[in-house]
Amino acid sequence: MIDIDFYKMDGLVPAVAQEYGSNEVLMVGFMNQEALALTLKTKIAHYFSRSKNRIWKKGETSGNIQKVVDVKVDCDADTILLIIEQVGNVACHTGAKSCFFNSFEEPEIKRYPLIKSGIADLPTRYGKFKVKAYKDGCQEHLAIMSQDFFTLEEPIVRIHSECLTGDTIGSLKCDCSNQLDLALKRIAKEGGLVIYHRQEGRNIGLVNKINAYKLQDAGYNTIQANLELGFKEDERDYRAVGVILKDLKISKVKLVTNNPTKIAFVEELGIEITERIPSITARNEHNEKYIQVKKEQMGHML
Ligand SMILES: [Zn+2]
Repeated sequence: MIDIDFYKMDGLVPAVAQEYGSNEVLMVGFMNQEALALTLKTKIAHYFSRSKNRIWKKGETSGNIQKVVDVKVDCDADTILLIIEQVGNVACHTGAKSCFFNSFEEPEIKRYPLIKSGIADLPTRYGKFKVKAYKDGCQEHLAIMSQDFFTLEEPIVRIHSECLTGDTIGSLKCDCSNQLDLALKRIAKEGGLVIYHRQEGRNIGLVNKINAYKLQDAGYNTIQANLELGFKEDERDYRAVGVILKDLKISKVKLVTNNPTKIAFVEELGIEITERIPSITARNEHNEKYIQVKKEQMGHML
């Protein structure tokens, strides 16, 4: 689960901590392989003391006083991010910094922390949007909002799954870029939000997606190709989207989608879908079969 190359970094990697719901990330110490293994096993943060050349012991000034809620590895596999709940009311001394962590009130299952940016303006060819970015381990997502977004009671919302080949270079193998274009035009005109969810290729990543395309060149359809590579037909995980929708304080939406999984997910969050807006775009000879498979085998309303 935690794949980090300790040898590359002389055996030690920085461990940073984040309190759920805040943007604050604090450097709390270093971990070696042993400290990480102990942390994962015990769910208590264990750090490596460079001055003592061993793991901090319980009760020492710094170190293992926090209960770990989640452990992630940062993008370049060179930092361990700990989502931490303080056990006991003790300061954690971390070199020059001391910090307190608050206890959580929500049940653990609901916690899914993301690091958030501020909100910036972004002029585009569609119009002027506001954007806010979210970082979830190795994936970074973007909320693209119309200027009036925060005044809308029932914003139009599209959860768009990343498709580099479609969105960026105009691939005709799928309908992704057409759907993105439609959604951005619509929110620019009528107000709303597009969440650009960076889970490429139904979350199998670009390398696997291109391998799936190679299989498709040999006659597999989009589902068969994913299965052949050892994946489920859809590996997407919408938890980060849930956090983003809650962060933007959305309680009612007009949801632009053909995908029943996305409808069920939004409803499960307790967000009311006042209208489903179909996302139907032009077909071509290259994406015809793909769209047909989505309709017939994945239940998309096309
Ligand atoms: Zn696509």
